[in-house]
Amino acid sequence: MRRRHVHPGTARDRRVPLPPEVPADARDADGLTVWPRSTRPAPGGDLSLAGVPLAEIADRFGTPVYVLDEQEVRSRCRTYRTAFPDADVVYAAKAFLCRAMAHWVREEGLGLDVCSAGELALAVTTGFPPERIVLHGNAKSPEDLRTALRLGVGRIVVDSTSEIARLAALTPSGGRQKVMVRVVPGIAAGGHTKVRTGTEDQKFGLSITDGSARHAIARILGQPHLELVGLHCHIGSQIGSVKPYVGAVRRLVGLMARVRDEHGVVLPQLDIGGGHAIAYRPGEDSMNVPVLAGRVRAELEEGCAHARLPVPRLTLEPGRAIVGPAGVAVYRVLSVKRTSGRTFVAVDGGMSDNPRPALYGVRYAPRLVGRASGAPPRLVTVVGRHCEAGDVLADEVALPGDVRPGDLLAVPAAGAYHLSMASGYNLVGRPPVVAVSDGVARLLVRRESPEDMNRRDVGI
Ligand code: PLP
Repeated sequence: MRRRHVHPGTARDRRVPLPPEVPADARDADGLTVWPRSTRPAPGGDLSLAGVPLAEIADRFGTPVYVLDEQEVRSRCRTYRTAFPDADVVYAAKAFLCRAMAHWVREEGLGLDVCSAGELALAVTTGFPPERIVLHGNAKSPEDLRTALRLGVGRIVVDSTSEIARLAALTPSGGRQKVMVRVVPGIAAGGHTKVRTGTEDQKFGLSITDGSARHAIARILGQPHLELVGLHCHIGSQIGSVKPYVGAVRRLVGLMARVRDEHGVVLPQLDIGGGHAIAYRPGEDSMNVPVLAGRVRAELEEGCAHARLPVPRLTLEPGRAIVGPAGVAVYRVLSVKRTSGRTFVAVDGGMSDNPRPALYGVRYAPRLVGRASGAPPRLVTVVGRHCEAGDVLADEVALPGDVRPGDLLAVPAAGAYHLSMASGYNLVGRPPVVAVSDGVARLLVRRESPEDMNRRDVGI
């Protein structure tokens, strides 16, 4: 594949100044704490993002539509870079990836974490430097590994012993691929059992407890084509507390000391994954990134001093915390059905563009936009359009009592793990992604059309 370097500037010289922030108490009063910082009340009961009214976006691009605030993404990248000035901050592309997103994170000086040949190829075709890319995956396909080696990714995170020989065999002679070992630190953390990945009873990583991590390390050290540069862990998602990260650092430094003692090898890198919580609804907690940085750094320095190890270079892999709060989903109401006990407000999207409520029971706070309403609020259930009773986007949420077909509902904190997990259920095309910045809206990803879907169906 040919690589196009369409943005030759350095991260620093392409940085765009960020708009001034609205004071936090004004955002509280408007109920906008979980919305992008550029969100403002707009005439006629609407909201604007980066100066663009949401109703205007809905009219221009149709609904459902995902709106991404570019400066919010960039500012979140900068928060990490400022808090972790000496670390590699690697954006987890699985949260959301498109070409523009790859440009933004690259320009902000971040690396990229990918988990398939598809994500990797997309990133590299935008000119993303492959040496700043980390490849993950509990079951990487031969195609994933071949693509990673061909494009020259910086690091591959080994997740099983069987992968070691396969990877070594695919590495071209004379080449030496940098790898890390994904370790299970035995730490339970995360917002839901399905996203806890730091414990023994799940599919990711190699256990410290049963010795498989040490076994994999020894195997890699015996492979001349592989260079073990460090240890990796990712303990889960939606983690709001720094404590589990401190615990993970402690265990991984312990293992690094053991590797030094057993093999005489001092590993120069430590990757503590992502998983930092964001608030989906007002009042929910999010990870305090500067506090995380201080506590992790302190534990790392103390642990390494105690083990007489040099402090390794840290890598972090935030996904959700970079893009989640920057995204807003806008739907149009198609029907309102009042049953004896409940009111169902059905919108023109649903589990095909946001499977998270059905998967993890996540709760959102949709809001009426595009018109003002003085009607007293009523508790309703916002459901999708799919043929599935579990297609519920937001259960028991307060919306104006006069909500009706044709209204627009906007859902904040919709930037991560919506479109990247979207499906083609009921052959409903995936929504477009529109970026907003400085009063301008531009299409990043177009809506999936029936023709797009039909093109794949080649049988008779
Ligand atoms: N790194 C790895 C290995 C992951 O599996 C994930 C998500 O599952 C992430 C980073 C990003 O997590 P989050 O988006 O919660 O920050």
